[in-house]
Amino acid sequence: MRSSLKLLTVFGIPIELHISFLFLILFIYIMAFFNIIQIQVAVLITLLFVTVVIHELSHSYVAQNYGVSIERIVLLPIGGVSQMEEIPKNPVQELWISIAGPITNFVIAGIFYIVLISIQGLISPVYSSFIYDFILVNVVLGGFNMLPAFPMDGGRILRSILAKRMNFIRATELSATIGKQLAIIMGIVGLLILFNPFLVLVALFVYIGADQEYKSTVISTLLEDVYVEEIMTKEVKSFNPSTTIDDALKTMYQERHMGYPVLDDGKLVGIVTFHDISQIPDTNRHIKVNEIMTKKVITSSPQEGVVDTLNKLNINNIGRVPVMKDEKLVGIISKTDIMKILEILSHKKSE
Ligand SMILES: [Zn+2]
Repeated sequence: MRSSLKLLTVFGIPIELHISFLFLILFIYIMAFFNIIQIQVAVLITLLFVTVVIHELSHSYVAQNYGVSIERIVLLPIGGVSQMEEIPKNPVQELWISIAGPITNFVIAGIFYIVLISIQGLISPVYSSFIYDFILVNVVLGGFNMLPAFPMDGGRILRSILAKRMNFIRATELSATIGKQLAIIMGIVGLLILFNPFLVLVALFVYIGADQEYKSTVISTLLEDVYVEEIMTKEVKSFNPSTTIDDALKTMYQERHMGYPVLDDGKLVGIVTFHDISQIPDTNRHIKVNEIMTKKVITSSPQEGVVDTLNKLNINNIGRVPVMKDEKLVGIISKTDIMKILEILSHKKSE
């Protein structure tokens, strides 16, 4: 089931709202309806999310200009996430992609500030305080994102500056360390001085983010020159659309693979996994795989970089993708395969 709904498309980038986000907005307006919060607060929260979308869009727009393909932008209750291909390990590009978000917020704040001072006398104080709040939201959002710690933009900006002087992994390690130290200071201040649980939560979020960024950089650097055709499984066992669930299960038990492409006359028409089959009650074992398979199959190609494939697997939350060449199935690659290769490569590196 899809967990997010598409709202609109800008610059060819789909903007989606996650279900939990829709509930949050609904909840906020119900509270406003019953006067638990002021309607202005509800509108301001809505505007905050609009700002977040514009912020994410500006990252994506610059990235797109550097040839990075953007999957989508998803709006979650904690903020926006741009799902894109890996950003190139080019310090200049990373700098511009990262700084675009905060700059946009500061520009929006600047424009509305000019608007506010020029029309302040003409509008009621309610509106001007509302515009003032909107400016504040943009300044805070831009400023917060400039903190030099992953996963904030500032962490990437710091890394891209460091990466001009040292190699990419070392630059990531150093900026992750700085981010973690900042998080620890933030946590201590929040816990012992300001007694602010929100700050402690943010500190935790930053600490984990720094660590994750370091790990994912190591992964993508190790896999840098590894292509799908080098590690894919070439002999792929597949099912026919008319294979019954019973037969499919027997094959799965024997071969212990968790997912199989479904071919109709040599043409890929779907993929069926053990997970799909395990949802079907035992009494329905006679039904055919084409009734339960996933028809919209995400695929890879032999020349695709394994990092991109891993990204695909993670973004779509799937375990494997068929590898296609000229519309023919030539292999299959799974997350487990990639993890095994990573283990081998990291041993090689540390030897
Ligand atoms: Zn950002």
